[in-house]
Amino acid sequence: MSHILQSFARDAWVTPEQGLVDIPSAIDGRVVARASSAGLDFAALVRHAREVGGANLRAMNFHQRADMLKALSAYLSERKEQLYALAADTGATRRDNAIDIDGGLVTLAAFASRGRRELPDTNFVTEGEVEALSKRGSFVGQHILTPLHGVAVHINAFNFPCWGLLEKLAPALLAGVPVIAKPATATAYVAEALVKLIEESKLLPPGALQLVCGRLCDLFDYLGGQDVIAFTGSLETSEKLRSHPNVARHSIRFIAERDSLNAAVLGSDITPADPEFDLFVREIVREMTAKAGQKCTAIRRVLVPRAQESAVIDALKGRLGEVRLGDPRHDDKAMGPLVSRGQREAVRAAIATLQREADIVFGNPMTCAGEGIDAEAGAYISPVLLRAREPMQAREVHATEAFGPVATVLAYDDVDQAIELVRRGEGSLVASLFTYDDAVAEQMILGLAPYHGRLLIVDRDDAAESTGHGTPLPALLHGGPGRAGGGEELGGLRSVYHYMQRTAIQASPCRLAKLTGAWTRGAPAAATAVHPFKLNYNELEIGQSIETASRPITLDDIEHFAHFTGDTFYAHMDEAAAKANPFFPGRVAHGYLILAFAAGLFVDPAPGPLLANYGLDNLRFLKPVSPDDTIKVKLTVKQKSAARRPEYGEVRWDVEVVNQNNEPVARYDLLTMSARPA
Ligand code: NAP
Repeated sequence: MSHILQSFARDAWVTPEQGLVDIPSAIDGRVVARASSAGLDFAALVRHAREVGGANLRAMNFHQRADMLKALSAYLSERKEQLYALAADTGATRRDNAIDIDGGLVTLAAFASRGRRELPDTNFVTEGEVEALSKRGSFVGQHILTPLHGVAVHINAFNFPCWGLLEKLAPALLAGVPVIAKPATATAYVAEALVKLIEESKLLPPGALQLVCGRLCDLFDYLGGQDVIAFTGSLETSEKLRSHPNVARHSIRFIAERDSLNAAVLGSDITPADPEFDLFVREIVREMTAKAGQKCTAIRRVLVPRAQESAVIDALKGRLGEVRLGDPRHDDKAMGPLVSRGQREAVRAAIATLQREADIVFGNPMTCAGEGIDAEAGAYISPVLLRAREPMQAREVHATEAFGPVATVLAYDDVDQAIELVRRGEGSLVASLFTYDDAVAEQMILGLAPYHGRLLIVDRDDAAESTGHGTPLPALLHGGPGRAGGGEELGGLRSVYHYMQRTAIQASPCRLAKLTGAWTRGAPAAATAVHPFKLNYNELEIGQSIETASRPITLDDIEHFAHFTGDTFYAHMDEAAAKANPFFPGRVAHGYLILAFAAGLFVDPAPGPLLANYGLDNLRFLKPVSPDDTIKVKLTVKQKSAARRPEYGEVRWDVEVVNQNNEPVARYDLLTMSARPA
């Protein structure tokens, strides 16, 4: 009896009884699982996510949600072998599983640590600086981001059942938005096992995650303007889903990651004698064979200078001939089968389309041999390399995605032509460029960047540490314009903000300071009787302020500082040269001298709760300080935030240094650590 996949709906596992679809093994075609979503009440799923999941997640702050993701990543990492064992039937080798399973866990952990490091311990984010909107400063603006009150519907492609689910889940949960995940049916048994582990962990609050194995039926009918759809899959499905009337009517955010005819370009400066030549050949073969070419980022178009075309083809043929194709359960195999025989038929059909304008130079899509391969029952296919007969006339190679181990070589005559050919893909997730020439690199980067979400430039200097063409990274954008779907995933906090609403708040500085917990210039500042450095983190209040005594800066001070530090720059030492400079009235004090004197004015020297100064932010010198000017400092508690360890807190101070006319000469944020008694 094959396994009947359950959906996780309203915090309970539901077993379908009708409409079951068989899911075959990629290895031998036996039925590994059966799926259906018949009987699910989709309106109730959406309601549960919004009312239970959303409320629970928003009751936590960013740091608590980040800690939840970190714990989840650790929990799953200890149990990942269960997923490895299941995923072999999808055709994935151990290397492929590392990309999918470990890649997903690393992404989860990366979002956890970003959430801790880069987001506050609140439930909203301030974005950018306070904008001055009025002459007297009593009316200002500030952008904030708050979690949407809807549900994130995540629809994934078959090729990454774990990574696809986790790379979407992490930013949504970190933002505070619950998820309904719908894996592709062909590999849903791996996604189901992953969600079972997540549920067993009891680390997520009720309603935070639901899983639909099978079709989404009428779910889109229940979505509205607070919801987000994130889709990964083919261009055709994305078009269909995006044109659902509810998506347009309610302006539902629709993030699409879809197929992409990614290119790799060998620079016109490279010959077989250069290290970049071999790096290029290796990367093409790796991208053709990892996940048997079933990667949205895989290289489909191989652009080479005409003079190197036959050398490249010969080198690729040599390496492709060495690829060990076979049963993915055997660790020595580099490439397993496609996900299903149906997918193999689709790839064969796409190759036939490409053959209208390209010749096969390696492989035969109709036959396949290798140790332990059942070519009839399994979904095996040999890698296939094609060569475009007339690259400038070719059309299909820029429009037909053979979602398998297939790539086409196109020869180009000059850099402009290479750029023109790559652009015919009408927008891709990634392109890579192998060159060691500055001019070629600059021309290609600027020519290709508007058409891509990511560009990888490989050369002898970075190859050893390069993460490769096909690997999306949590810190960097994954997505591309045009044909690639126009979506943006990952890219650090950018993907978290997809699940949040940006709002411009216009108010008085005082109102804004109360909301954001960050003092802003123009908001009231309360002078303290006690020096604020004597107050611990808990005692410090936003807006507490001191104004120091004044001190003059003499020419002797400037000369002493110059000789003591070695900074004898002419603006401090030579009256005539300084005067000739458009910025200075004559000799002026060093900026660093102003900072040092400012610290001398505001520090409280005795040991106390202030533990360390760990930096300055946003430093600006606003006006020159001439000999015999006097300066004083206004120091105000600007913001407090929890530190990594509970014994300390981070305090951000607004520092304004003014001259004898009360004109600001320097402004900056001072960052300190203050003791935080339990
Ligand atoms: P697909 O056939 O378009 O399916 C994608 C997802 O959409 C699956 O979960 C599928 O569910 C679902 N779906 C299909 N029709 C639907 C409908 N009417 N309503 C709601 N959901 C629906 O793509 P695939 O074959 O799984 O994946 C291969 C494609 O994905 C390739 O073109 C590849 O380039 C692309 N891809 C892109 C990225 C990227 O990040 N850009 C990543 C991976 C893959 P069922 O499985 O149940 O039909």
